[in-house]
Amino acid sequence: MLDPNERVQAWWFSARADCDDLVATWTQQPRSLSPHLQSCAECRADLADTAVVDQPPRRHLTTEELWSFDLGTMSADERARVDAHTASCSDCAQAVLALEEGDSAIDEALEMEAEGAGASAARTSRAPVPRRPGARHPEQREVLEERRDFRVLLVRERQRVRLLVQPLSGRSVTAAVFLTPGKPSLKPSQGPEGISFELGAEAGGARSAHLTVQAGGETLERDFSY
Ligand SMILES: [Zn+2]
Ligand SMILES: [Zn+2]
Repeated sequence: MLDPNERVQAWWFSARADCDDLVATWTQQPRSLSPHLQSCAECRADLADTAVVDQPPRRHLTTEELWSFDLGTMSADERARVDAHTASCSDCAQAVLALEEGDSAIDEALEMEAEGAGASAARTSRAPVPRRPGARHPEQREVLEERRDFRVLLVRERQRVRLLVQPLSGRSVTAAVFLTPGKPSLKPSQGPEGISFELGAEAGGARSAHLTVQAGGETLERDFSY
């Protein structure tokens, strides 16, 4: 509507005056490009520049996400995002696979340690398990007690501590751990290595608990700190 003589000087005002179709794409993705959008080089360039906003590139899993996935501290929503992303991103799928391989490498390393180490002094020190490629979480084991029928270990792993009671002689072993006198025992879980009790996150200060183990005719009662 400007006077033709003024248009040249007001080019910045009128140059894209016909590009209304572009404005329409800001609020709704067009099914097909209008004739104007197809023919206008400036609009096509603008559409190309903003394509990244309409379809943002996939965001890869971050290190933090992989950690919390590995530790099992993810919410259901976060887990769903990991699943959805790894379904289409082979890089991240591989990272998640590596976590699982890392875990089995740790198990292997522990088995090797259990087989390889005799009754050496290293067993009673807090010697870390030898690291194997892929094992990201060095684990520390401290022997609290060793009897004929069982062994008691404190296992520190990924900032968590658990107590492990390993049967040694094939006799049945039962164990209970009490954090507070008079309260029920921690819930034991039976694993390939024996009975284990999750003591929770490693605290800076010393916490203590009471342990009872029965094997054969023998009973062990002791306090321990961790
Ligand atoms: Zn245009
Ligand atoms: Zn990815």
